[in-house]
Amino acid sequence: MAARLSEDPAVRVLLIEAGGHNRDLLVRMPAGVGELIKTKSKHNWGFWTAPEPHLDNRRLWWPRGKGLGGSSAINGMIYSRGHPRDYDRWAQSGLAGWGWDDVLPYFRKLEGHHRNGPLHGTDGPLRVSPGESDSPFNAAFIAAGRQAGYPITDDFNGAHPEGFGPYDLTIANGRRWTAAEAYLFPALARPNLTIATDARTTRIDVQGGRAVAVDYMVGREPRRATASGEILLCTGAVQSPQLLQLSGIGDFTHMRGVGIKTVHELPGVGRNLQDHLDVIMNWRSRGLRTVFSEVKGLRQLGVGLRYALTGKGVGRQNFLEAGAFIPSREGLDHPDIQIHAVLAIMRDHGKVKATEDGFSLHLCQLRPESRGRIGLVSDDPLADPLIEANYLSTPEDRRVLREAVTIGRDVVAQVALDPYRDAELAPGPDVRGRCRDRRLGPPDGRDDLSPDRHLQNGGGRRPDGGGGRSATGARHRGPARGGRVGDAEPCQRQHQRADDHDCGEGGGYDPGHRQHQIGGLIAYPHTLRHPLPSRAHRLPHPLRHPGLVPGSTPRRGGRQEAQTRPPRPGGLRIKSGVTERVGLPSPRIAYPAHPVTPDSFRGPLRGEGDGRRLKRDPRGPVHSGPSPE
Ligand SMILES: Cc1cc2nc3c(=O)[nH]c(=O)nc-3n(C[C@H](O)[C@H](O)[C@H](O)COP(=O)(O)OP(=O)(O)OC[C@H]3O[C@@H](n4cnc5c(N)ncnc54)[C@H](O)[C@@H]3O)c2cc1C
Repeated sequence: MAARLSEDPAVRVLLIEAGGHNRDLLVRMPAGVGELIKTKSKHNWGFWTAPEPHLDNRRLWWPRGKGLGGSSAINGMIYSRGHPRDYDRWAQSGLAGWGWDDVLPYFRKLEGHHRNGPLHGTDGPLRVSPGESDSPFNAAFIAAGRQAGYPITDDFNGAHPEGFGPYDLTIANGRRWTAAEAYLFPALARPNLTIATDARTTRIDVQGGRAVAVDYMVGREPRRATASGEILLCTGAVQSPQLLQLSGIGDFTHMRGVGIKTVHELPGVGRNLQDHLDVIMNWRSRGLRTVFSEVKGLRQLGVGLRYALTGKGVGRQNFLEAGAFIPSREGLDHPDIQIHAVLAIMRDHGKVKATEDGFSLHLCQLRPESRGRIGLVSDDPLADPLIEANYLSTPEDRRVLREAVTIGRDVVAQVALDPYRDAELAPGPDVRGRCRDRRLGPPDGRDDLSPDRHLQNGGGRRPDGGGGRSATGARHRGPARGGRVGDAEPCQRQHQRADDHDCGEGGGYDPGHRQHQIGGLIAYPHTLRHPLPSRAHRLPHPLRHPGLVPGSTPRRGGRQEAQTRPPRPGGLRIKSGVTERVGLPSPRIAYPAHPVTPDSFRGPLRGEGDGRRLKRDPRGPVHSGPSPE
């Protein structure tokens, strides 16, 4: 958002970010993900849920990214746009302009994809690459999926987004490609863009129904920035509702309970939280070099050093290059389970150190029915938010994850994994029906902003009652929820789209229909009156400053001499023989219209097996090759 808004030199933008610049080795090096997600740190807010009533009152770890790039600086780097049907369901539920055909041009616009074709863009800022691992595990896992009767696809974001296959990754030349790398860093030299890092927003000041200023802290020092234009709140799925409530915008009863005066009653704030829970299954392995072997003892240091000095080695990998999107039962028109196959034993997000080689499956329910909420525990703006995910509160959610565990076991039992599989360590072969659940990925929370409720499309109401803040951001969408649409790329697509509207490049969309989202970007277009925070600075771009030592303190003040990437104007461009207008919807791309059922994935039963394996015809459907025109 900051990068797009500041393309217009007449607009002055201040970005306030609680974390740092996020350019250290750990963030840049894809293999750093294991360290980044497991502990509270300068990169990770490290929240915990409240005791979860349907999980034996356990509290679950919620990593959230901190610093420029947000959660894209600590995430798993899987490039996943979500299933087209998820977007169409949004559109059908009343969110006009959010159907697959509407959003696809924005995905293409943001992608710097290694694939070409009508479903992908190649010259966008978000770099997407295939995995580099030479481990035989990934191919064996995909083959095992095939042997278990599922289709194979070579592009989860292509025409066949279902089945087993390799993930594409937001990695460029062996380097994590965060949202900041893609959008913000190339814009650093702009004189109209100021970035305040280590600056934590504590409140939005609403006066007379209009958001007029932001209070924030730099260290212990309170600061205030006043906006004559707009304030855009993009602090993610957890802290956007938290900040609104701290500002008196939300449910009166809840805010009164913690001593906050209501300035705008908006009961949906913090409600309708949806998160996909991961069940993690671990196996001991043989014949594989897994993360344990790669980084045990002093090798970890060696991996980091080699990567830092040469950019080479296993530091370039995220150890998560294969997975699946599959349905849990017949009759579903698209998958409701995602599998990540990780070349590591994972216990409690890696908080419990592995002591042997192994692999894990992360089985995730894509469209949970359970609904939770984000709230406040006190009026202290520096306190962690209250997170009540309310996982597994419905029979269907419990069914899907039980089925996922059964499927996971079935897949790992296939012949293709015979050379590499040893004992199941967790939940353990004797555990049937119950196992320990952990969450890994992104919370897909969003306030209850359905069109007929509080502040959604068409309603045209802004959360502050129509005043100075058009809240926009990534994570608070409408009532329908999509498979993995809470991931990084859909968020960037939403930012891209929202600021297309803000920047008057709507490609034919009606700006009146833009989604007033709540989502750490605070922007002040037009004019800006604020004391420049002591830690506000413009960051040098590492690509243009190759001499910059990784992790060094960025230079403060002053403009960078480097050139910004010129804004890409609309207009015609020729690509792969297809002439298209940038910013306009591309021709409709068909994706499979038939309902996807387990049968549509599976060939006829071969009727053989050893009693524990489900043997299906390995000649079942295979989805691969280039995407159809
Ligand atoms: C562990 C993990 C793994 C994931 N894996 C994947 C994956 O493999 N693929 C994928 O596509 N997606 C993944 N995701 C999800 C993806 O990263 C997020 O969906 C996406 O980054 C969300 O973007 P956002 O802009 O909404 O919020 P965020 O990226 O969370 O950004 C919010 C920003 O606001 C800042 N902020 C918060 N509060 C304040 C405040 N008070 N003042 C100032 N700044 C503040 C934060 O520090 C942060 O920089 C993962 C997420 C996590 C946590």
